[in-house]
Amino acid sequence: ARTPFIAGNWKMNPGTKNEAIALGKEIASSFSDSTPCEVALFAPYPFLDATVGAVGSSGVKIGAEMAFVEEKGAFTAAVSVSMIKSLGCNWALAGHSERRCLFGETDEDINKQVLNLLNHDVGCILCIGETQAEYEQGLVGPICTTQLKKNLLGVTAEQMANVVIAYEPVWAIGTGLTCPASEAQDVHATCRGVLADMYGAAIADTVRIQYGGSVTPETVDELMAKPDIDGALVGGASLVAEKFSRIINFKV
Ligand code: 13P
Repeated sequence: ARTPFIAGNWKMNPGTKNEAIALGKEIASSFSDSTPCEVALFAPYPFLDATVGAVGSSGVKIGAEMAFVEEKGAFTAAVSVSMIKSLGCNWALAGHSERRCLFGETDEDINKQVLNLLNHDVGCILCIGETQAEYEQGLVGPICTTQLKKNLLGVTAEQMANVVIAYEPVWAIGTGLTCPASEAQDVHATCRGVLADMYGAAIADTVRIQYGGSVTPETVDELMAKPDIDGALVGGASLVAEKFSRIINFKV
């Protein structure tokens, strides 16, 4: 059985280091032996060190929201995997739709990031998902399939142990429009099928697939009840400790 995995993506929030510390502490205090999932928080670079300290030995993991592919050198404002690793971060996101849409990252860029993370033994949450226009054209399956194939190119079966997929329909991000759980389940099953084609059914069966897009305390239980939904990637609600605490302690 797959261990559920729920992560908070803080994006460019909160506004100050002290707020990040307070939020990290509060979330960590709601994580206990009875929490039914693994938990990670993805924080802005300047707050990573302090957030690692804030969650302490609670078991909550801290990761970066992306890591640039070069090791060091003349790449102004970029941050390498080794840098984040040196802060005690063993996870990073790759391919978030905001990186794709607002910062122009291509499937090839994201593929390089994924390979680089895995080659440094850092876990990767690969975010995929269709835009509203693609959704309306009925392209959900083909888009997710293409992204998985292009973004995981060259990733070995062994390395898939360090990969989590986050299915995030772009139209559901920050909009309050959650994809209905049954619809999300269908997409997750499609994605698992693609992974089975790429790596075989036994490996596909071990890969956690998170749902992301307006997840709230009100919607999490129904999502988590679906057989192929193994967790959530939470934006807005991960900035409110009370909400995120309820989400990670979902009812099975
Ligand atoms: P929201 O939960 O705010 O919709 O954001 C989802 C997301 O993009 C997580 O990566």
